[in-house]
Amino acid sequence: MPQRSTIDPREKQLNVPKRHKVAIFREQGGPITIEDADVVHDLPRGQALVRVIYSGVCHTDLHANLGDWPVPNKLPLIGGHEGAGVVVKLGEGADQHVKIGDRVGIKWINSSCGDCVYCRKSHEPNCVKAECSGFSVDGSFQQYAVADAKSLTPIPAALSLETAAPLLCAGVTVYKACRQANFTPGDTVVIVGSGGGLGHLATQYASYMGARVIGIDTGADKKALSAKCGAEVFIDFNQSKDLIADIKAATPDGLGPQAAIVAASGAKAYEQALEYLRPRGTLVPVGLPPNATIKADVFWTVFKSLSIVASYVGNRQEAIEALDIAARGKINVVSRTLGLTDLPEVYKQMHNGQIAGRIVLDIDR
Ligand SMILES: [Zn+2]
Ligand SMILES: [Zn+2]
Repeated sequence: MPQRSTIDPREKQLNVPKRHKVAIFREQGGPITIEDADVVHDLPRGQALVRVIYSGVCHTDLHANLGDWPVPNKLPLIGGHEGAGVVVKLGEGADQHVKIGDRVGIKWINSSCGDCVYCRKSHEPNCVKAECSGFSVDGSFQQYAVADAKSLTPIPAALSLETAAPLLCAGVTVYKACRQANFTPGDTVVIVGSGGGLGHLATQYASYMGARVIGIDTGADKKALSAKCGAEVFIDFNQSKDLIADIKAATPDGLGPQAAIVAASGAKAYEQALEYLRPRGTLVPVGLPPNATIKADVFWTVFKSLSIVASYVGNRQEAIEALDIAARGKINVVSRTLGLTDLPEVYKQMHNGQIAGRIVLDIDR
């Protein structure tokens, strides 16, 4: 499934205006308003100004707006952490990492300190001083965003900015999840939510890495998308009378899959995974249902030697790898493009569970 490369004419417009358009909210659960604001011209050391052209919308952005996570976010806040654009201005020292005109992505980890025990081991997402785009610092729902230059992700020439945007969080997250799922080529991997925004990408990355994917989702559309993304078997959780038995039966030796990557929100999917995984199998939770817990039966978890490996977003190198695989035509991003002014409506639909696939915003619209 090769991607068509398109350079947006706006990528060549490197002038920096005084004012720009932002989508902002002032209190948790408060309305998103589209406003004119001053562009930040005085950049701190190591920071770059990115002219954002496209940004994906992630469920996390809605959580930040609602304030329903157990960690506080900045207020007022400009959300967004799947920003794709070009570098238009550099703070002192930023030229060590990027140059004017570079095509770059703003991802969830806006900056990490580089010096703490986690950064030294390349676990930047767990950095004790990490700043998160569209959460602890303003993000990509604005035309000109400030970002840490060394943490920007270079976007390969073969990827359009519109295609790259959803990969910067959704793509990197599921690529990391696949890497942590402890499977080798030929192993069976279950992707729960295989027809969704995260799941359709997870299905493709897992297939690319050699897994035989069993997709779990519901409905004809999700089934068709799962198959298109490489799932060899699809099980509709609303039609299966015994999901655990059906999943085990779909593995070549009947012992169950080696790994389950759960990209669906819903606590039940996690408990089911622990039941159908084969001995020494790995559960990778990716979806974040609010106030959910994973209940693991101690006896069977020990007896089957199961692992639960939580996967947070990837580091800088994993972001580069996730985009590189897509740039080589291995990943087909299914998304729908709307305008920045549509963001309030997108949140409303997201809240009601009506969004299928990924939404990308054209920030100028
Ligand atoms: Zn995200
Ligand atoms: Zn650090």
